[in-house]
Amino acid sequence: MSMRIGLGFDSHAFKKGVPLVIGGLHIDHPEGLAGHSDGDLLLHAITDALLGAVSAGDIGTFFPPTDPKWKGADSTVFLNTALEEIALAGYKIVNLDCVLIMHRPKIVPIAGEMRERVADLLNLDIKCVSIKGKTPEGLTQDGTAVAHVVVLLESINLPNEHRKLVLEADVPNEDEIDAALAAVSKPRDITALGRKLPTFDTGDIT
Ligand code: MG
Repeated sequence: MSMRIGLGFDSHAFKKGVPLVIGGLHIDHPEGLAGHSDGDLLLHAITDALLGAVSAGDIGTFFPPTDPKWKGADSTVFLNTALEEIALAGYKIVNLDCVLIMHRPKIVPIAGEMRERVADLLNLDIKCVSIKGKTPEGLTQDGTAVAHVVVLLESINLPNEHRKLVLEADVPNEDEIDAALAAVSKPRDITALGRKLPTFDTGDIT
């Protein structure tokens, strides 16, 4: 068994008049987070941590902010693509630890609900998801929310026919992707995800 670690970071400015979504959780708050997508900085940081753990680039590699297609996009789309990438690379999540830094809203009172939501999105037990809230004492970032995420992955035993997806630097077709995903989790609809060529050296992760 091999293990990989990934680090994710994101920040977004607060903005009046938009809904606040953090960790896929809709939060009642006077301001939301500005961004090309729905501004969910926690899901963005988790996505980057997952992609980084398998050297697959980052969220901008797959979903460039210059592409109008992703304007206002639900960030679970980004997360699901990262989950596909780690599954195709032959890994699954062990646990993740997240830190959210912002003055308001207070994270601690809603951390339990947020952990449940993130665990559900990642198909994990809630015990594998940690979310901590910090206030930015001494930092001049009153109007900004920041997220840091560390994720640990472990290798899975894929059948040989699926392992070849990783060994051959080839672009798998949708049937092959579905087959590989079915080996580790529930199949996902990838047709709407705008999936691009893997950018990582697949020889580096086997
Ligand atoms: Mg972001």
